[in-house]
Amino acid sequence: MILLAIDTSCDETSVAVLEDDRVLASVLATQFDLHRQYGGIMPSVSRRAHEENIHGTYLEALKRARKDEKDLDYIAVTQGPGLAIDLEVGIRYAQDLAKRLRRPLIPVNHMEGHLLSGLLRNRAGKLFSKGVGVDIGKLTTTALDRIFPALGVLVSGKHTEIVYIGGLGGYTKLAYTLDDAAGEAFDKVGRMLGFGYPGGPVISEFAKSGHLGVVELPIPMYRSKELRFSFSGLKTACLYALKKHDAEDTAGDKRQYVADFARQFEFSVVSAISEKVIRVLDALHGTKSELNNSLDFEKDVQSVRDAISTGCASGSDAVSPPRAIFAGGGVINNVRLSGALSRIAKRYKTPFFLPYPRFRSDNAAMIGLAAYLHILYDGEEYALTNAEDIEKVERIPRLSVAG
Ligand code: ADP
Ligand code: MG
Repeated sequence: MILLAIDTSCDETSVAVLEDDRVLASVLATQFDLHRQYGGIMPSVSRRAHEENIHGTYLEALKRARKDEKDLDYIAVTQGPGLAIDLEVGIRYAQDLAKRLRRPLIPVNHMEGHLLSGLLRNRAGKLFSKGVGVDIGKLTTTALDRIFPALGVLVSGKHTEIVYIGGLGGYTKLAYTLDDAAGEAFDKVGRMLGFGYPGGPVISEFAKSGHLGVVELPIPMYRSKELRFSFSGLKTACLYALKKHDAEDTAGDKRQYVADFARQFEFSVVSAISEKVIRVLDALHGTKSELNNSLDFEKDVQSVRDAISTGCASGSDAVSPPRAIFAGGGVINNVRLSGALSRIAKRYKTPFFLPYPRFRSDNAAMIGLAAYLHILYDGEEYALTNAEDIEKVERIPRLSVAG
């Protein structure tokens, strides 16, 4: 089946064409240059840019996919979460398209797209990472049932979450951030270092030539009693460390200091995330491994069980260990983070699905994939076919992936 997918949830206008789980084309009209002038995302500027870009992006995606609009079987669009006025542009466009072409419309949760993005195949049908020991082959419900339940690790500009994927559409957050997201921390610390927006990639680049142990920074929530993230304390610690350095040392090699600083900051973020992933995995397996430094393992087990039994991940209280680990979100581009997660997955002998780099940050291909999987699982009922239902689709800016 041929799917057209649209995502305008934030600062990029993205349109993709998929044939099942294969991406035939994925086109992004970025607004980085626009936002760089403001040091962040300006909603009104963003909306105007989406309006100007969407039609051209659509035509370009069809052209690159070598498809005619008559070839499209379904139109998928991000319904939320995201900025309301941005989401509206994509939804409006998708509604008009669905009605004009008389094709079903599939509203998609953007977070579900990120969570499943590791399953996207390129045009030639290849996954970015096959995972360890599992070649899922053609995506069928049977193939998916071999990798569900799974664990999703979502690290982006707005989210830092560990999600239990009981099955398609059944998600439970097992850990999330109390304040800033990891990507946000990267961007804010990037700004402190004088980098433009987004600072994450620049920090990661500097960190490559940096050394650990030169700058002192805390690992946030390390050994905390709760399975929670928090990055605002680290951000403040960064601010103080930089101020102290500026006041004391002006003679040293500034570039090397920034690299060492970036390396230590990256270490703190990667350690904070890895520590919770290990604790969650152990809690799901019911055994405390030697990597685990939890102060109260039984409490971790209880909190994971409670979340899953009250969430919508599974019909029963039984908690099965994950059979795969998925990673998603722009911060996964940090090689030390993806490396750490991949090593963890290996230790637990669990296949690891890392998305192609271009499908880690916001993109429409992952929206098309989520739509495809829903059709696969839930059949045609999942898609809206009559004009009235299509018209009723509204943006849900605060849409959550799970309770
Ligand atoms: P969201 O959709 O929540 O806004 P994205 O998934 O689009 O976030 O990811 C954007 C975030 O990813 C930004 O915060 C950016 O700094 C961060 N990011 C991108 N590449 C890297 C990298 N190599 N290292 C660290 N952070 C990165
Ligand atoms: Mg996103």
